[in-house]
Amino acid sequence: MPNITVLDQNTINKIAAGEVIERPASVVKELLENAIDAKSTAITVEIKEGGTTFIRVTDNGCGIPREEVSLAFLSHSTSKIKSVEDLFTISSLGFRGEALASIAAVSQVELITKTSAGLTGTRYQIDGGEERTVEEIGAPEGTTFIARNLFYNTPARKKFLKTPATEGAHVAELVEKLALSHPEVSIRFIQNNQNKLHTSGNHNLKDIVYTVFGREIASNLLEVTVKKDQISIHGYIGKPVIARGNRNYENYFINGRYIKSSIISRAIEEAYRPFMMQHKYPFTMLHFSIEPEMLDVNVHPTKMELRFRDGEMVYHMVYQAVSGALAHKELIPEVELEKKREEKQGFAGKKFEPSPEPFEKRRLMAMEQQAVTEEKKETADSFPKRLTPPQPSFVKERNELSENWLKPQTPAINRLAEVPAQDVIPKSEKVPEQLDLFDGKLLEPKARTRHKLIGQLFDTYWLVEFNEQLFIIDQHAAHEKVLYEKTMGTLKEMECISQLVSPPIILTLNQNEEVLLKRHLKYFTDMGFEIEPFGGREYAVRGVPANLFSIAKKELLIEMIDGLSEDGSSHNPDIIYARVASLSCKAAVKGGHSLSAAEANGLIDQLLSLENPYACPHGRPTIISMSKYELEKKFKRIV
Ligand code: ADP
Ligand code: MG
Repeated sequence: MPNITVLDQNTINKIAAGEVIERPASVVKELLENAIDAKSTAITVEIKEGGTTFIRVTDNGCGIPREEVSLAFLSHSTSKIKSVEDLFTISSLGFRGEALASIAAVSQVELITKTSAGLTGTRYQIDGGEERTVEEIGAPEGTTFIARNLFYNTPARKKFLKTPATEGAHVAELVEKLALSHPEVSIRFIQNNQNKLHTSGNHNLKDIVYTVFGREIASNLLEVTVKKDQISIHGYIGKPVIARGNRNYENYFINGRYIKSSIISRAIEEAYRPFMMQHKYPFTMLHFSIEPEMLDVNVHPTKMELRFRDGEMVYHMVYQAVSGALAHKELIPEVELEKKREEKQGFAGKKFEPSPEPFEKRRLMAMEQQAVTEEKKETADSFPKRLTPPQPSFVKERNELSENWLKPQTPAINRLAEVPAQDVIPKSEKVPEQLDLFDGKLLEPKARTRHKLIGQLFDTYWLVEFNEQLFIIDQHAAHEKVLYEKTMGTLKEMECISQLVSPPIILTLNQNEEVLLKRHLKYFTDMGFEIEPFGGREYAVRGVPANLFSIAKKELLIEMIDGLSEDGSSHNPDIIYARVASLSCKAAVKGGHSLSAAEANGLIDQLLSLENPYACPHGRPTIISMSKYELEKKFKRIV
């Protein structure tokens, strides 16, 4: 065994840096928070190569007195708190007192700082935790902090850095969050010598929302201002039309910190529920001021968890604030404009030759067909119009679509003739274990006539009796699965026929989304999307796959991009196809409405004819079963 030695402080700092400093964005976070804590009113953040080689943060704050500069770089040195309990009673952001030590341990740092009391400033250099110089220098009031070549002395950690574009996108996202959480500070962000963001520091949150998220979001906001006892909430929430496919746009700040709280998130999402489709998340930008005695702070080395003394009260307050803002508002999106756009669109050019059977046309034909079926009245009765507020036009269209797909063309019994008279149990290797349940029984075409549809339970589940078994089919999951397979079929048929969209659909993307779009652009192009830069953060979608024409609206495109960021590093075009298919059917499916028995039979027919009817596209089961035996055991008829 080697001798036991005490690690030197430098090594300890390098290890500690691992907890605090993971990537350029973590350096920027610490430096930016320090600058805000120093009461700065203007801060510039500059990075090059995603921050991997150069990070600069300049502020006009209080500066550091010369005699305290070295001290500031020792770990656990802080001027801000004496104990962890102070954390939420003070307004400062940093508290661990280890950020500067950690940054200096893994990069080459240069600091120039001057206090208002100091006659001259101080220049200080420290590389990999080794002090190089301390000298007097002429400088403006405030602090400039430069960190070069992150992880230059810890190659193992450097390997974990992503490309400069990705790292840069993380930094941009962080700077945006901090700018949004501090409307009183003017923040400028420069990336590779280009100005990327500049907030005015005029305290106006809406201005920053405009600067960060663009015009479309800024023009669809509802204001929230409530105050009760020790809590006040101020900010904006997005109208449901600007809902997104993930939680990245659900922002709120508690006493100036970007912190997640499950109570607040749940209250927000619950309040939006009646206005939103499933799996959609709102845009919110809410600032909470909460008296420290209402908070319980539990500090864990790597994450911070926030608890409320009275969580229920907070939940109700947030729920009511958000519901209140959403209620009594005109939330119907402007359908007229959309219609006009569609009328103007057409096929053009060689790439735009009409597909043999355009999606839109087929849809119309299906609608006509529907009009003559005897089912019509029943459908109208059994698809009660939702009591929830109106949905955007694209949703309605997709719902119509789904209803058509669902319609049994002929009664179930006649359809049996069309089913090949052989076993349709999938032979693929993906057969789920559940197969045993049905083993050549439920799925056998001949068996279909012997399925006894008992009825519907809780407006959601269909009960089918067959062969001493009770099968329970989740209508929602079944519906989704059937639509998914249809859409996948349509996508695969398509031969990259692009259909012109005029005027183009304009998307405003953040840097992260831009990186993802660029990375996957080829797949989008292959599918028939034509997307090109449109200046700044905007992208113009000039063409969409002809087969998806009627549903490829802005919302779908944004959701696709949101989905990419959820799926992480998916490079596989199949994943994108699957994503598109699942999105388009998800949007089309509504839960909780009752189907007529004939419709249910049609749905079950279609479900059972699929290769894998057992799970919906999201992996939830579509069918479960219970045997007569199990039931009898439960009733103790059998022991
Ligand atoms: P913490 O922020 O947790 O106190 P840091 O290691 O980030 O610890 O900083 C150590 C100390 O250095 C701070 O407490 C503060 O006194 C000083 N300091 C750091 N950055 C600045 C700055 N930009 N302006 C003024 N003082 C600063
Ligand atoms: Mg700090």
